[in-house]
Amino acid sequence: MSCFADIVLPLAQPAYTFAIGEGVEVCVGDAVAVQFGKNAVYTGVVWRLHDTPPAKGVAKPILKVLYDKPLLSELQMRFWEWIADYYICSVGEVMRVALPSIIKAKARCEDEFEPYLPKREITVNLVAEAFTEEMREKMMRRAPKRYEALCAIEQAGGVLPRHAVELDATALKALVKAGLVEMGERDYVLDCEWSKTLLPKLSPAQTTALNEVQKGLSEKRVALLHGVTSSGKTEIYTHLIEERLSRGEDVLFLVPEISLTTQLVERMRGLFGESVTVYHSKLTPQQRTRLYTDMLSSESGNFVVGARSALFLPYKKLGLVVVDEEHDSSYKQSEPNPRYNGRDTAIMLASMHNAKCVLGSATPSLESYANYLSGKYAYTKLSERYGGVEMPDIVISDTVRNVKRNERKLHFNKELLDGIADRLENNEQVILFQNRRGYSPYMECPTCGWSARCPHCNVTLSAHQHKGRMVCHYCGYNEPTKRFCPNCPTTELKAMGFGTERVEEAVAELFPEARVLRLDGDTATSGSAYSRIIGAFARHEADILVGTQIVSKGLDFANVTLIGVLNGDNLLASPDFRAEERAWQLIMQVAGRAGRRDKRGEVIVQSAEPKHSVYSMVGDYERMAVKLLAERKQFGYPPFVRIVKIMMRGGDSKQLAEASIELGELLRNRFGRRVLGPVTPLIDRVRGEYRVELMLKVEVESSFSRARAIMREEIAHLRENKNYRNIVIICDVDTL
Ligand code: ADP
Ligand code: ZN
Ligand code: ZN
Repeated sequence: MSCFADIVLPLAQPAYTFAIGEGVEVCVGDAVAVQFGKNAVYTGVVWRLHDTPPAKGVAKPILKVLYDKPLLSELQMRFWEWIADYYICSVGEVMRVALPSIIKAKARCEDEFEPYLPKREITVNLVAEAFTEEMREKMMRRAPKRYEALCAIEQAGGVLPRHAVELDATALKALVKAGLVEMGERDYVLDCEWSKTLLPKLSPAQTTALNEVQKGLSEKRVALLHGVTSSGKTEIYTHLIEERLSRGEDVLFLVPEISLTTQLVERMRGLFGESVTVYHSKLTPQQRTRLYTDMLSSESGNFVVGARSALFLPYKKLGLVVVDEEHDSSYKQSEPNPRYNGRDTAIMLASMHNAKCVLGSATPSLESYANYLSGKYAYTKLSERYGGVEMPDIVISDTVRNVKRNERKLHFNKELLDGIADRLENNEQVILFQNRRGYSPYMECPTCGWSARCPHCNVTLSAHQHKGRMVCHYCGYNEPTKRFCPNCPTTELKAMGFGTERVEEAVAELFPEARVLRLDGDTATSGSAYSRIIGAFARHEADILVGTQIVSKGLDFANVTLIGVLNGDNLLASPDFRAEERAWQLIMQVAGRAGRRDKRGEVIVQSAEPKHSVYSMVGDYERMAVKLLAERKQFGYPPFVRIVKIMMRGGDSKQLAEASIELGELLRNRFGRRVLGPVTPLIDRVRGEYRVELMLKVEVESSFSRARAIMREEIAHLRENKNYRNIVIICDVDTL
C-alpha cells in the first residue's frame, strides 16, 4: 500500500501530494475530495501513488473517494498529459475543460461532495384546457415570448424539461400563477424515440470517394476528404461510421460549433437511432455528468456527436474520429487554457486509440493539405455536387469603377443592386454577407474600400489612434496614420468598416418592399433564436438574409440564387497571415449556399481591389493552396513553422514592459532570431491590465518538444525575479 497520492486539482498548478489515511483505498484515476487552501474542498484526480512525503509541510489527508470506480482510464490520463505538455499549461487546466463541472466541483466542506447522479428532472407541463384560442390570441399580441414557449411545450407533447423552456424564473412563475402551466418532475429523459431509416444509397462519385477513403485509411491514420459543398460528405461519413459501430467500436463525430449539431444529430438519429449521444459545453452540468458516467459504465459502441469538449469522454475502444469542417477556426479554444485545437487534439486521441481519423472540408486548411502533399495523410477529392447541382458563378464587382461612374448606392454596387432586384422580381431569395471579424480598427477608404497594409507582411496595419500610428502586429513595422486615400485623394480615411445592422438599414432603404432578416451574434443569441431565424428564412418568410460568418456554415436553402459579399476586401483586411486563406475559404463556403438543380446560383463579391490574387483563384483550390503555401514557406509561417504566442499581462505597465523585454532576451539567447517582439497587441489594456506579446517561430524540422522545454525553463527563470510575481504569462501554441 502506498502512503501518498499526487492529486491533480482543477487549477493552474502542478499536482499536490496528499496522504492516504488508514482504511482509505484509492486507485489511480479516482476522483477524490481534498481540502486545498483555507476553506475550500476540491474534487481532484489521483494521478500517482507513492511513498515519498512532501519536501516541506505535512501532507493533508484525502477526505473521501467520490465514485466507486476511477473516472479516468490510463489512456485518458496520457491524453490529458499530452495536451498539457503540447499546449504548455497544467494538467489541472485540462481537467477544467475535460470533466463536467459537477464532477470537478469545488465546495466549502466535505459533506457537499455527494457524487451527483441525476435521476429526476424538473419539467414544465402545459395545462391544455387553459391554453384556449382566446388566450392564444391575447398572448400572441401581449406576450409573444411566453406564447412561443407555450407553443414549444405543446409541440413537445405538453411536457418539456425546465432547461428546455426559454423563460426566466419570473415569467415561468407568472404562467404557473395564471394556471397555464404546472411544474412537474420525471425520470431523466436523454433521448426520444427515433425510427431508423436505411443508409442513403451513394451516387457513383460518392461510392468512388468512399472506396478511396477506405483504401487511404488502410494505409494511413488520417484521411482528408476534400468534397465541395453539397457533395454529400455527410453521406460518406455515415457509411464509415456504420462500419465501425457494427464492429462494436466507439465513434466520435466532431463539429466546430454547437449550432451545427442540431441538424446533424437529427440526421444521425434517423440513421443510427438512440445510440447517438450529443455532447457539448452548452448541456447542463447534470446532463453532461450523466452522459459521462453512463459512458463510463457502458461497453464500447457509443456514437458521440459533439463539439471539442466531446474529446474528453471515456471512450473504451475508439475506432473512428470524424472531424467535419476541419478548416474551421472555431476548433481552437482561444481562451482560457488549455488553448487547444480540437482538430489536432482529435488526431492525437485517435492515434492513442489506434483509431482512424477522417478530416472533411470543402475548403481544407493549408495545414491539412500540406500534410497530404508530404505524404502524411491520405487524400480524396469529391468535386461534384450531389444531384447535379452546378457550382454558382462567382462575379467580382469593381467598387472603384462603380464609384467613378456614380453607380454605387449605400454600400451596394450596381451589379449587386441589379442582382437583388432581379431575384426579388422572380420570388427568389438572397443572402448578403458582411464579415465582422475585422473588428480591429484599420484605416479604410469609405469610398473605394482601400486599406493600409504592411509592406513586409501582407497584412493590414492596425490603427492605434491615440498614438497616431498604424502598426503591423506581426513585425512591428509602423508609420504615421494616413489621412487621405491614395485612390481618391480627397477622401479622408476612416477607422473600421461597417456592420450588419447598417447593411440591414441600407437594404430597407433601397428595397423597401423586401422582407429582411438578420443573422449575427446580436440576433442569434441562443440556439433557438438561431433556429427560428434559419427556419423562417427556409420557409421563405423573408426575401433577404443579412448575416455574418454564421451564414457561411452548413446551411442549405433551396431557393437562394444570389449571394452578395458586401466587402471582399474586408475579409483580407484582418492583421493575420491567414487572411487570404480565410477569405478564399469564406467566399467558397458562402458560395456553397447558392444554387438549385434548375437554376445556377450567382455570387457577387464587391471589392475595391478586384485584381487581388485571391479573387483570381476563386474556385481553384489547388492553385490557391500552392501559391499560399509557397508564400508561407518564404515568409516563415505555418505549416512550415509552429508559432507560439506568449502573452503577458500585468497591472503595472512599466514593470510589464521590463519583464517582457527581459523574457525576450532570455528567449533570444536560446532561440536567436526565432523570437519576435515584445509588441503591444491591438487590445493592449483590458480591465485595467496591460498586455504585451512575444512570438516564437519554430521550424517544423526542429524538435518542438525541446523548444517547449526551453520555453518553460526560461519562463521559470524570469519568475525567479520576485518583482514579476504579479505578471501573468500564458502561452498560446499554434495560435490562430
Ligand atoms: P456536404 O456535407 O458535402 O456539404 P451533404 O452531405 O450535406 O453535403 O449533402 C448535400 C445534400 O445532398 C443534402 O441535402 C443531402 O441529403 C443530399 N444528398 C447527398 N448525397 C445523397 C445521397 N447519396 N442520397 C440522397 N441524398 C443525398
Ligand atoms: Zn479611396
Ligand atoms: Zn509587418
